[in-house]
Amino acid sequence: MPKNAKGRDIAEIIPAKCIGCQLCVGECKVDAIRMENGVAIIDSEKCIGCGKCVDVCPSNAVLFEKIRKKKAVIPAAEVKPGTEANIKPEYHGVAVFIEVVRGEVSDVSWELAGKARELADKLQTEVIGLLLGSNVGEVAKEAIAYGCDSVYVMDKPVLAAYFSRMYGRALVSMCEQVKPEIVLIGATPLGRDLSSVVATQLQTGLTADCTGLDIEPDIKLLSMTRPTFGGNIMATIWCRTRRPQMSTVRPRVMKMPVKDPARSGEIIPLDFSADGITVPQLIEFLPRAAEAGGVDITKAPVLVVAGKGACDAKSLPMLEQLAQVMGGSLACSRPVIQAGLLPYVRQVGQTGKTVAPQLYIGVGVSGAVQHLVGMQGSRKIVAINIDKEAPLVKIADYSLIGDYKQIIPELIKGFEARSSQLKNKPQSNLKGSQA
Ligand SMILES: Cc1cc2nc3c(=O)[nH]c(=O)nc-3n(C[C@H](O)[C@H](O)[C@H](O)COP(=O)(O)OP(=O)(O)OC[C@H]3O[C@@H](n4cnc5c(N)ncnc54)[C@H](O)[C@@H]3O)c2cc1C
Repeated sequence: MPKNAKGRDIAEIIPAKCIGCQLCVGECKVDAIRMENGVAIIDSEKCIGCGKCVDVCPSNAVLFEKIRKKKAVIPAAEVKPGTEANIKPEYHGVAVFIEVVRGEVSDVSWELAGKARELADKLQTEVIGLLLGSNVGEVAKEAIAYGCDSVYVMDKPVLAAYFSRMYGRALVSMCEQVKPEIVLIGATPLGRDLSSVVATQLQTGLTADCTGLDIEPDIKLLSMTRPTFGGNIMATIWCRTRRPQMSTVRPRVMKMPVKDPARSGEIIPLDFSADGITVPQLIEFLPRAAEAGGVDITKAPVLVVAGKGACDAKSLPMLEQLAQVMGGSLACSRPVIQAGLLPYVRQVGQTGKTVAPQLYIGVGVSGAVQHLVGMQGSRKIVAINIDKEAPLVKIADYSLIGDYKQIIPELIKGFEARSSQLKNKPQSNLKGSQA
């Protein structure tokens, strides 16, 4: 085995095995690998013997056996839970972080409580609520109504507003005491920030922005599914060697469970010390976009969604009018944002908002996977498209095939006529109706 100037073992290429793929060149952090006549060459003066080239080489052309062996890929069927020393049996329960912002619980927390119930039933374990805040006693009771069996609470004035370090310490301490097997957190701005702080401090894995969660039947691990490679494939990820298994999920991806005020459960207060953390002084809360007169497309019951096929400044007012007639809002796909026609807050999809309206009407939207992941939870889907083979048409409940410029005015006329008919109906008839 060759050595570098400091006497450390360094990697060596077997030229006959090298297929010239250059993966090792891209992986080498110290530029110690170059290509010559289609074969990788290692510069022994630059090589630091990290062995990263060994891991990426698809043809086993890098010799570096002494200090680093290539990691074995374990076939899924052979994965056994609990074989690693750091998975201790005391980890149990599916925990949900209950996010409270200025006294209001984020809906995603209840959506996750519903999902946690399903996962916990499969694992035959309990659903645990993890609650931080100030004066959150009522929220703890609500958590039980939404499916938690027990709720651990740190109720302190210092937790009234969110600060990463404060909440990070509190939730880490909670996880260390409660030892949940799984922790689910909403992928809100707060949840994204907090989950990464907590996962780092607990030295565990975190799968962000999951669109599907399940329990792998044989091995009882949490299967966390999320789009990857720009949304072109869905990856299912397991956290085999660390606990808790952590996942964030965006609002409206999971279904809202039914609230049952008759459920009973345990509320367990925990202590929290903020010693050593300086609390920043709050000057002012800025209003949210919706409060400031903006539009929150995640709350609209009906969404008319403009795609690239309906992406011109003259058409958008027509789509807005259809949205208004139907009591909904106007949203769009990414090309409309890129064309500068609507603000980012209106974008549906992987890099926009996840929506689940009662009615989604896609106008000139093809249905790329990055768009679909943000709207597939919609109750009814209507596609208006000239192309009957468009992916959105394939998943839609109803499709109108044709030019939107002809279809939309007809829809507006029809809905306007229907709403004036309803308005003109005598009130007494409506009240007296037994139907
Ligand atoms: C990392 C990454 C993240 C992304 N995130 C998002 C995201 O969050 N949201 C998102 O939307 N996209 C996202 N994209 C982009 C996505 O891949 C697609 O490019 C995009 O969704 C396509 O938008 P579209 O359907 O409006 O346009 P197109 O795919 O161009 O479709 C236009 C449709 O309009 C139809 N049409 C044309 N003329 C008419 C007409 N006169 N009447 C009726 N129909 C007509 C066409 O038949 C076609 O189906 C992302 C891409 C990447 C790589």
